[in-house]
Amino acid sequence: MSVNLMWFRSDLRLHDNRALEAAARHGPVVAVYLRSLPHWQRHGHGANQLDFRARSVAELKQALEERNIPLLYRDINDFAETADALLAIARETGASALHFNHEYPLDEKQRDRAVVEAFKAADLAVAGHHDAIAFAPGELLTGKGDFYSVFTPFSKAWHRQLSAERLALSDAPTAQKRLSITSDPLPDPADITKATNNTAVASDLWPAGEDAAADRLARFLRFRGRRYAQQRDYPMTAGTSELSPYLALGMISHRQCLQAVLGENDGTLAEGDAGLVAWVNELVWREFYRHVAAGFPRVCRHRAFQVDTEALAWRDDEAGFAAWCEGRTGYPIVDAAMRQLVTTGWMHNRLRMVTAMFLTKHLLIDWRQGEAFFMRHLVDGEFCANNGGWQWAASTGTDAAPYFRIFNPTTQSLRFDADGEFIAKWLPELAELPAKQRHAPPMDMFSSVDYPAPIVEHKAARLRALDAFKRLSSSS
Ligand code: FAD
Repeated sequence: MSVNLMWFRSDLRLHDNRALEAAARHGPVVAVYLRSLPHWQRHGHGANQLDFRARSVAELKQALEERNIPLLYRDINDFAETADALLAIARETGASALHFNHEYPLDEKQRDRAVVEAFKAADLAVAGHHDAIAFAPGELLTGKGDFYSVFTPFSKAWHRQLSAERLALSDAPTAQKRLSITSDPLPDPADITKATNNTAVASDLWPAGEDAAADRLARFLRFRGRRYAQQRDYPMTAGTSELSPYLALGMISHRQCLQAVLGENDGTLAEGDAGLVAWVNELVWREFYRHVAAGFPRVCRHRAFQVDTEALAWRDDEAGFAAWCEGRTGYPIVDAAMRQLVTTGWMHNRLRMVTAMFLTKHLLIDWRQGEAFFMRHLVDGEFCANNGGWQWAASTGTDAAPYFRIFNPTTQSLRFDADGEFIAKWLPELAELPAKQRHAPPMDMFSSVDYPAPIVEHKAARLRALDAFKRLSSSS
């Protein structure tokens, strides 16, 4: 009996995996994983996510082997080598079909198209499955037949057209008869340190695997879900799920998350408990940005969603960018957030907005520089959400923050870290200050404490950004 190949990518789980279920339905499964380290690095991923990915694949391999599913592992240098690598595996194993779950950024889609063509040309069956989102791109369109470019109508259509079938969980494979094919050894994790010249931070913060993800989901729903709407904006409260790394690499599915909400919320997603409904909304944002990447592929080519903003006069400011990256802007909330990012590989959503807006508005530095820095450090780095978030902050994207609504970092700090606890945690040099002063340390303190004075003045920086955007609208 010939085998079916299941090609794992950002869907590193056995449970509720559409492609894996389909592969197992058609016969014995051989799992395949291709590591494209140089290509992923060209996409900007750094040691944090590459290490998390490697640890997740190791967990997956063990879970597969418990079901007698071998995992074949190959290294490739470039996506262009993918079709040949998979065809070689198909020949080696005598496979008759390949199954995979779709990914939506342009490069990944082009890679997959080449794989489909190569398999068809070789007379082998190949099937892509929509797994990471409830609706395939193109299934939710405006009345005019266009992709949505605004979240709220997208979200309404999403809720309106959602069916039980779209949320039905796929079966995990049961143990199959042992095959003569055996798993490949996985590479030495030190490869990643060598390739990136960096060591992953705090891997103990992000235990890999499906069990860890399921445990996080259960704890979130049990202890924080119902308070999510009130607590989600306060970085010291840990009011969010911190599931993003697991969702980004597919150790848990959006269906598993939504099914768990249905179980807690009387079978509904759109009404009922305000906290749970607000959380569902974030999962819809996640899906929205994937539709945006698929429907407006220019965003995958480093282009602005709003094409006219391409002409914006971003500043070339190496010193300002370095200060932002290193958490030395003199705005404590910005600096504390940047230190959280480089220390843990994760940053709270409210602070992603604050830091991204500070870079793009106060420093008037091109959002693409910030997008790349985030991608290099984030353990949850995911193209669609990262690009969507950055373009929102820069006022160049869908639903973009209107350019004149510029967050005042100090006001944000007073509002969302009122006691200055987050600042004290990440900037110990300010911890001795009275809580109120931590948001904007007094000028006479800078000579005695190793913390910089603000590198820009809020009002002047705001006017400079407004001016740049106004010049843009007057020239278009
Ligand atoms: P929760 O609040 O518990 O939300 C649940 C899930 O919903 C998240 O895990 C995530 O998968 C999804 N989600 C939440 N908010 C958003 C959002 N605004 N857009 C898209 N999906 C969302 N998220 C990433 O997963 N990867 C990124 O690379 C990324 N980069 C970002 C960059 C910027 C500038 C901004 C403003 C936001 C970015 N986000 C990104 C979105 C958001 O900040 C994170 O998903 C969230 O902070 C993750 O924490 P959580 O898992 O506790 O989220």
